[in-house]
Amino acid sequence: MKVVLQNLTKKFPNRNKKAGGEVVAVDDFSFEIPDGKLVGLLGPSGCGKSTTLFMICGLQKPTSGKIFFGEDDVTDLPPENRGVGVVFQNYALYPHLTVKQNITFPLENLKGADKLTKQEMSDKAYEAARLVQIEELMDRKPNELSGGQQQRVAIARAMVKMPKVLLLDEPLSNLDARLRLQTREEIRRIQRETGITTVFVTHDQEEAMSISDVIVVMKDGEVQQIGKPQDVYDDPVNLFVAKFLGTPPINLFDGTVRDQTLYIGEDAVLPAPGVADQEVDVGIRPEGFLLGDDGALCCALTGVEVMGRDISVVSTHEHAQSKTIRSIINAENKVDADAQKVRFSLKPNKVLLFEKQTGKRLCLQ
Ligand code: ADP
Ligand code: MG
Repeated sequence: MKVVLQNLTKKFPNRNKKAGGEVVAVDDFSFEIPDGKLVGLLGPSGCGKSTTLFMICGLQKPTSGKIFFGEDDVTDLPPENRGVGVVFQNYALYPHLTVKQNITFPLENLKGADKLTKQEMSDKAYEAARLVQIEELMDRKPNELSGGQQQRVAIARAMVKMPKVLLLDEPLSNLDARLRLQTREEIRRIQRETGITTVFVTHDQEEAMSISDVIVVMKDGEVQQIGKPQDVYDDPVNLFVAKFLGTPPINLFDGTVRDQTLYIGEDAVLPAPGVADQEVDVGIRPEGFLLGDDGALCCALTGVEVMGRDISVVSTHEHAQSKTIRSIINAENKVDADAQKVRFSLKPNKVLLFEKQTGKRLCLQ
C-alpha cells in the first residue's frame, strides 16, 4: 500500500503563552512512500518526526494537507479505520495482561463481520508471535520480560491485524546497544518478509541508514532531503544534512575558492571548477583523506587510534571548525605516532563545499 503525503502541515499553539504564535511542527511535507518499502524518517529531536507519524496513523489531524493510502483519502478517517499498526517509543504494554492477551488486545473489539472467535484470535496471536520469535513467552507478564522481549511483544501487537501500514516511533531507543542492532535487523527481516509499507522514525542516523530503503531527513518541520541512504550521504543538499549523516561525522574547515581552486588556509587543496570566488565551508568525510608526503593539507598530528581494519588519525588544523579532525585510513598504512605533522591529499568526491551564508551545497562542474 503506497502512502501519499500531500502538503502535510501541522501547527500547534505555542506552549509558551507569552511568546504567542504558533509552532509549525511539520511544514508542507509532500512525499509518496512507495508500496512495500521501509522509509526512515530522520532528524534531531523536535524536528516533527512523531507529529508526521501521528498524522499518518490518525492520532493527530493535519492543519492542512492530505493523506492517501493507495487511492483513498484517509485524512479524516479515525485511526482504527486506517489499518495501521503502531509501535510507540514507550511501547506501553498492559502490565496486568499476559503476552498473549497483550497481542490479541487489538482483535478483541472487532465488530460485525470482522469479529473473531477465540480460536481465530489465538491463531493470529501465535502467527504474530512467531514473526518476532516470542512464541514461548506467551503466558508471561510484561514485567517478566527483558526490554528486548517487551519490544517484540509491542511489534507483535502492532502486526496482529496485518496492518496495511506499519508505523514505528523510535522503537529501539529503550534498548541497549547490542539489542538495538539485533532488533533493527529483526525489524528489517519482518518488513521484508511481510512486505508491509513501513515508516521508521529515529534520530539515529546510523539506524536509519542501515535499515531504510529511503530516508527522509527533517529539520525544524521541513524536509531537507529524500533519497536512498547512500545517495543522501554522498550528495547532501546542504550542510545540515552533511553534518547529520555519518560516523565519525564530516570534518569541517573554513575555506576559500579563488580562481576555481579550493584553498584551506594558504594550501591549494583541490581544483574547484565552476565555483565563483568566495569563502566556503568545506566538509571532508573521514574516509576522504589519503596519507602522502606530498599531500596538500598539512595537519598537526595528535593521535593514532588502531581500530583493526582501519586506523583513525586524529589531528588538528588552524582552519578546522572543530578541535580535532578525524581521518579513517586503511590499517595497511603506517603512521608514525611520534611525528609532529601529517600530510593528506584529498579524494575529490569526499570533499563537499557549502555556501557560507545559506549552507547550500556548491556543486563542482
Ligand atoms: P520529534 O518527534 O521529531 O522529536 P515532534 O513531532 O514531537 O518532534 O515535535 C515537533 C515540534 O512540535 C516540537 O517543537 C514540539 O515541541 C512541537 N509539538 C509536538 N506536539 C505538540 C503539542 N501537542 N502541542 C504543542 N507543540 C507540540
Ligand atoms: Mg518524537
